[in-house]
Amino acid sequence: MNSSGRVVVVGSANVDLVVDVPRLPGGGETILGGQLRRSPGGKGANQAVAAARAGGADTTFVGAVGADESGDLLVGSLEWAGVRTDLVDRVEAATGTALITVSPDGENTIVVAPGANTHVEVGAAQANRIAAADVVLAQLEIPVDVVQAAAAARRPGALMALNAAPSRDLPADLWDALDLLIVNEHEAADLAAVPGAPDAAARALLRRVPAVIVTLGGDGCLVAERDREPVRVPAIRVEAVDTTGAGDTFCGVLAAGLARGLALPDAARVASAAAAVAVTRPGTHTAVPTADEIGALET
Ligand code: ATP
Repeated sequence: MNSSGRVVVVGSANVDLVVDVPRLPGGGETILGGQLRRSPGGKGANQAVAAARAGGADTTFVGAVGADESGDLLVGSLEWAGVRTDLVDRVEAATGTALITVSPDGENTIVVAPGANTHVEVGAAQANRIAAADVVLAQLEIPVDVVQAAAAARRPGALMALNAAPSRDLPADLWDALDLLIVNEHEAADLAAVPGAPDAAARALLRRVPAVIVTLGGDGCLVAERDREPVRVPAIRVEAVDTTGAGDTFCGVLAAGLARGLALPDAARVASAAAAVAVTRPGTHTAVPTADEIGALET
C-alpha cells in the first residue's frame, strides 16, 4: 500500500439541474420555479471527489459520460478535486442528468435520466487499475453486473465496499463478494427486510456481509462488524444548510481512510467529520472540505 492508499470508485456521474419551487408540482401541473442551477453530481463522481479531496487518497474514477458539455463539466470537476479521470469513458449517449426540484421546506423530487451511466464497463484497463487498489467503492446507479465485475477484479486482501443506494435487491454472488456495506436507515431496512431500528437491520445484514455501516443523518452512524460490539459514531453538531451529498462525502472519505489502513470505526469518525463540514455548504463537489479543514473541525 502506498502511504495515502489507492481507491477506485466505480459509479455514476450526473449533471444535477436544480430548480427551487414554491411547492412541489402535482401530476399534470406546471409551476414557475426560480433560477436554474447546474452542478456536477452523481453518487460515483461525488464519492470519488470526496475520497481524493477530503480523504487524500490516490483516487481513480471508473465511469462514463457523454461527448457533451455536461461530460466536460464532470471531468473538469473530478480533475479539480485531484481524481484520476483517464478511465472515464466518453460514450455515445448523453451524460447522466438528474432533474431536481426543491421546495422551501427542503422536500425534493428527483428524476434521473441515466444516459451514459448505463454504458460503464469494467474492461482490461479498468480491471488492471482495480487490481492495484486497496479499496474499491461502488454504488447502485450503474448496472449491477458492472459492480460485480469490479468486485471480481480486485486483488485478494483489497476491500470491496458497496454503498447500496438507491436500494435494490442484490444477487447472491454480489453479497458474497462484499466486505463492507454502507447504507442509510431506509436502505438498511429495505435490504434487511427488517423495519424499524437500525441496530436490528445491521444485525440482520451482518449475516450476509462482514461489516455494515448504517448512516443516520444528523444522528451520526452505526458501525457494525461481525464478532465485535457495534459502535455508535455521533455526528458533529453543525448548522446544516444543504445535506445533499452528505452520504457521498461520508462514503468517499471512509474509503480513503480504510485505504490508508484506519480501522472501520476510526475511518467512520473522519468520514463523519467531513460530511459535517459538507452539510454547512451549498452544492456537492465544491462543498467537500479539504483534509486540513476536517482536521481543524476534529480538534
Ligand atoms: P444523502 O442521500 O442526502 O447524501 P444519506 O441518506 O446517504 O445522504 P445520511 O445518513 O443523511 O446519508 O448522512 C451521512 C452522514 O453524513 C451521517 O452519518 C453523518 O455523519 C453526516 N451528516 C448528515 N447530516 C448531517 C447533519 N445535519 N449534521 C452533521 N452531520 C451530518
